[in-house]
Amino acid sequence: MAPLNVLMVCAEYAPLAKVGGLGDVTAALSAALAARGHQVRVVMPLYGQLDREALDIRPLKKLPGLALRAGGRMRDVRYHVRGRAAGRLQVFCVECADLFDRPGIYNGPDGEPFPDAVERMALHGRAALLLPRLLDWPADIVHVHDAQTVPAALYRRLWYAGRGLPGPGATVLTIHNLAHQEIHPAAAAEALGLPAGQAVYPGLLEFHGRINLMKAGILAADRLNTVSPGYARETVSGPEAGCGLHEVLAGRREAYTGILNGADYRTWDPGRDPLLPAVYDSGDLGGKVRCRDALLAELGLEAETDRHGRLRRPLCGFVGRLVTQKGVDLMLPILARLAGDGFRFAILGTGEKRLEDAVRRLAADQRGRIAFCDRYDEALAHRIYAGCDVFLMPSLFEPCGLSQMYALRYGSPPVVRRTGGLADTVVGHPDPDATGFVFGEPRSEDLLACLRAVEKTWADRDAWVRLQERGMALRFDWNASATAYEDLYAAALAGREGGRP
Ligand code: ADP
Repeated sequence: MAPLNVLMVCAEYAPLAKVGGLGDVTAALSAALAARGHQVRVVMPLYGQLDREALDIRPLKKLPGLALRAGGRMRDVRYHVRGRAAGRLQVFCVECADLFDRPGIYNGPDGEPFPDAVERMALHGRAALLLPRLLDWPADIVHVHDAQTVPAALYRRLWYAGRGLPGPGATVLTIHNLAHQEIHPAAAAEALGLPAGQAVYPGLLEFHGRINLMKAGILAADRLNTVSPGYARETVSGPEAGCGLHEVLAGRREAYTGILNGADYRTWDPGRDPLLPAVYDSGDLGGKVRCRDALLAELGLEAETDRHGRLRRPLCGFVGRLVTQKGVDLMLPILARLAGDGFRFAILGTGEKRLEDAVRRLAADQRGRIAFCDRYDEALAHRIYAGCDVFLMPSLFEPCGLSQMYALRYGSPPVVRRTGGLADTVVGHPDPDATGFVFGEPRSEDLLACLRAVEKTWADRDAWVRLQERGMALRFDWNASATAYEDLYAAALAGREGGRP
């Protein structure tokens, strides 16, 4: 297709700001689109925690500082750019001392969402939408990611399109996680700078007497997608998977699709990963054993080996947000028992306090068997993907999931629940094409049964290596995903009507 100008509006963009998969996806998709010839301009907030010098972020001299309204007040804003403002992919950061210059991306030090979240989203949206005009760079597509960047899509629809102005082109919403909808009191419409009428029925934002940005985005975007075909189907199937928005999504069925994320194999390649103590690839997994030995030693885990020096039971890794979604509650009741049987566990993650506390207690009880690192640590994440034998991801729901893709590439067969993107990416034992282990119901007993199947397969060394190698050979290719996004952009430009006026 002819090259497009794509404005990416996102709250996370790796490596600048990453809480979970969203940051990886916006970065990899932007790069893949640019590699296919499109002009991509990313706009994200200049968070206080960004190390501007190390990341080569500096003020964009050609644009003066300006004042934008958010939350009923004018705020001083300055645009910054990463690296030289040249090339097909350019990353801009919006500086606003009032709203962004503080530690944290969504939450304060107390773990609670920032009380001025709405103002932050409003300012980000306004600044993003203004940038194409300031740069004299007409955007064909405004691509917003998740509820927190929906204001940009709403402004485009209600301010530009509504007045017949030749504003930025069509809008696309990607839903990375339907569970985070940004629901706020109706009065917040004003802080967003949107007419109060939009907060009451039949306004775009109205949701059971409050406002819901995800819902508004679903209605307002010209096209929308989520990050796997499986999750797209699930989310229209009923209120639970659809997080209360299944009917809204079903109403836009024609405009809604699932596009599987890719993995960025430039970063996630055990054959040349500089963060590993040893590199390896299929055909020669010797380096993986060295990675595991190093990981066991680093985390103070005591290994039980058989007379060939092989681990009696596998080392299980978990890297992820410690939140209900990730199925941590399914793991908790069975880990001690499995540890008693010889399994070892390396757990890295932060999240809900109750889950952090529970894992911390378990690790304290099972010293030498279960290790818990309660921090965000990119390098340790790489060492766990490489050093573990199996990777646990028993999510209750999973829009796509990247961790299981990384685990597959690193030769660590994933143990996953049959849901969303996990079901789309992992083939369960004993299928001849198996790449991992899959269980159905969200129950600890089912996860346990799955780990018993792991144990059996583990005992058959050759079968295990074949399982690893099938997973390592898979590629979830960003270029293929980028072509599917091109189709979505083309449809958005052709349709350009959104859900309703
Ligand atoms: P989600 O987006 O729901 O968090 P994904 O599987 O799509 O789940 O992506 C999670 C990403 O975040 C992976 O790259 C994973 O390695 C990373 N990650 C999660 N928690 C941590 C952590 N504590 N330290 C390092 N990386 C983490």
